[in-house]
Amino acid sequence: MKKLILLLLVITSTTSFAQTDSTFIREIYDEALEKGEAYENLRSLCKDIGARITGSAEAEMAVKWGEKLLKSYNFDNVYLQEIKVPHWERGTTEAAWIENEAGEILKLDILALGGSIGTNGLITGEVIEVLDVKALQQLSENEVKGKIVFLSQAFDKKNIQTFKSYGACYPIRGLGTNEAGKLNAKAVVIRSLATPEDDFPHTGTMHYDEDVNKIPGAAMSTNNATLLSEWLKKGKVTLKMEMDCKTYPDVTSYNVIAEMNGKDDKVITWGGHLDSWDVGEGAHDDGAGIAHSIEALRILKELGYQPNHKLRCVLFMNEENGNMGGKSYAKIVSEKKEEHICAIESDRGGFLPVGFDVNGTEDQLKMVQNYETLLNSFELYRFRKGFGGVDIGPLKEYYPNMIQLGMAISSQRYFNYHHTNNDVFEAVNQRELELGSAAMATMVYLMDKTLK
Ligand SMILES: [Zn+2]
Repeated sequence: MKKLILLLLVITSTTSFAQTDSTFIREIYDEALEKGEAYENLRSLCKDIGARITGSAEAEMAVKWGEKLLKSYNFDNVYLQEIKVPHWERGTTEAAWIENEAGEILKLDILALGGSIGTNGLITGEVIEVLDVKALQQLSENEVKGKIVFLSQAFDKKNIQTFKSYGACYPIRGLGTNEAGKLNAKAVVIRSLATPEDDFPHTGTMHYDEDVNKIPGAAMSTNNATLLSEWLKKGKVTLKMEMDCKTYPDVTSYNVIAEMNGKDDKVITWGGHLDSWDVGEGAHDDGAGIAHSIEALRILKELGYQPNHKLRCVLFMNEENGNMGGKSYAKIVSEKKEEHICAIESDRGGFLPVGFDVNGTEDQLKMVQNYETLLNSFELYRFRKGFGGVDIGPLKEYYPNMIQLGMAISSQRYFNYHHTNNDVFEAVNQRELELGSAAMATMVYLMDKTLK
């Protein structure tokens, strides 16, 4: 009998706990869907500021924009965290043409890869097609020297998770130019890292080793890449290109931070990145993550939530080309001896949220999977091991036991927009963005309640 009473007590208390949760989560969703401000905030970031690559005037205006918006919500603390960031500019000239033996000429849709040097005037070279970085590394200097290397690896369309295809192609963008420089190629052009066949080139970061022969690198649209491959099957193709992009000395910038104080000083951090590439409006990448993150804190405050821990929303600077925001944040807070127990990131676009990826132990994964029943009616059902995010990643080095979560978002259309001129506000759906904000607020709430 004693046992039964005890069991009943346990059941009752578990149920009432779950009911409080589900009622509060319902309120979070109601606020996001009926009185949400994420969409208007995203509109303002995209239209009033625009593309905001680190080191640009727009990036500095985005810092001001974020600080002003966060202050307008009267959170407990709003402040800037000073950091040093790289400064690369695309310049004003960016053009390329291909010509075949029949004398046909085609102007390419290209974008310099972020961090590339310029061409120093118009350069010309014979094109050599190489599938990927592995194949490039097999070639001798004789085969490559003086030529323009065309890395043509395409997205594997069979992958349901598009990030898998992106990861597989990443080396041609991140490392290809550096590898071709070692073989004294003249330049590198790559097939854009993109799902669809269209005319939009996709930029993105690339890396040079310190002592390598630096050569220019650019991405062309997938349509251009398919055509270039066809031309190369029929004979020689020459490519002419000119770009005047350049790297400048590092500059000062800021992470923008807002907090709600808790009953203790243990920190739950979440955010997205405020910088974007210098094309389009950085709407999905990562204006959406910024809108999600700010809205999550606004909703919790609006609903009168009293946090157990310090809730901290961070608008990280410089995720795209250096991650100095994330790296500096981790270093600064660890030096202050802050205790970080959880970090959450949204950097996969403003599409429909489906769950969260967990970077943590089996027990931490199980803890999150226990929410499944609770979150099912909000159509959040995917909770599995995975990547948290680039900005929050460096925290793991200082706080190996913390749990990190990446908001999982339907990824089918993400690589139609990623790092292109068509990543604009109009490409984001209001309701999907609002559901993302609610999902972020919900996970922050559950972590705050569950973690001791
Ligand atoms: Zn991003």
